[in-house]
Amino acid sequence: MAEKKIRTIAILTSGGDAPGMNAVIRAVVRAGIKNGLNVKGIERGYAGLLNEEIVDFSTESVKNIIERGGTMLYTARCAEMMHTSGQKRAAEILKDHEIDALVVAGGDGSFRGAETLAANGVKVIGVPCTIDLDIGSTDYTIGFDTAVNTAMEAVDKIRDTSTSHERCSIIEVMGRSAGYLALWCGIASGAEEILLPELYDGDEQAIIDRITESRQKGKKQFILINAEGVGHSASMARRIEAATGIDTRATILGYMQRGGSPTCRDRVCASVMGDMAVQLLLNGKYNRVVSLKDGSYTDFDIHEAASMTKELDEELIRIPYALKR
Ligand code: ATP
Repeated sequence: MAEKKIRTIAILTSGGDAPGMNAVIRAVVRAGIKNGLNVKGIERGYAGLLNEEIVDFSTESVKNIIERGGTMLYTARCAEMMHTSGQKRAAEILKDHEIDALVVAGGDGSFRGAETLAANGVKVIGVPCTIDLDIGSTDYTIGFDTAVNTAMEAVDKIRDTSTSHERCSIIEVMGRSAGYLALWCGIASGAEEILLPELYDGDEQAIIDRITESRQKGKKQFILINAEGVGHSASMARRIEAATGIDTRATILGYMQRGGSPTCRDRVCASVMGDMAVQLLLNGKYNRVVSLKDGSYTDFDIHEAASMTKELDEELIRIPYALKR
């Protein structure tokens, strides 16, 4: 029997929001409609899908959003999707609304949700959107560039005051259990120390020794970038201050890193990947995730993608040590 032609597609954003999600929505809506598809938006991720929060899109609906952070479709985490009953009901709702394919913009958790929908007969495409850069199947995830620039700018500001007061500053950046954001932010801000969950061995005494040594060399400030996955920045600051006698403050950058207008890189990547999602569906390819690998845009089977892992770049790990004073 011939494959049913795709007439209506929908897009949802899920998991933590990432700057550039709006640009993905815009691209999917504009490319879809231009190619004769009906495009719907599902609000609040899988939670909204289960509540049937489904809206119709026109090309006008997505005007003036490419430059906006956050997601106009809102996002949510949804415990019900972790259960077979929720996954089946989500697939039935899509069928009832005559939605032939679903584009999921989110992180690896959202992709796992999409995989379960694929297992229930839904045609899905994943577009990688997370500030954490922690998806194995792609070298780049939409939102990372904006978030890491936001974090870097905040660190620059903290360095000014830290130097004036001759302090040690511990700055905790996001990234969940991955250290990419901390590593990039640490290199870009010339941090004296970077703690990554993938590598940190818990040897706080070694850090204390390096801070003391740096002060003896006459350095006025010490910037330590701590990854969310290592955490405990406040208690670490108290212990370092007690051991070194140097005024030490912890700053947890938190959710500010998720906000703000997406950078050019995120807008362009989101536009390309959103368009690719639609082109894949038009070409009869589904249950794929869009990816940027070795400098080229490509796509992978969603199940294959789920088993792909990503290591921290060895060359990047070396750089902070190579450039130490
Ligand atoms: P980020 O890491 O940037 O916050 P994410 O997409 O990884 O993004 P998660 O909270 O892990 O965020 O996942 C988002 C949603 O995807 C979950 O709330 C849940 O509804 C769904 N999901 C996650 N894992 C699974 C799974 N194993 N099976 C089904 N659905 C899942």
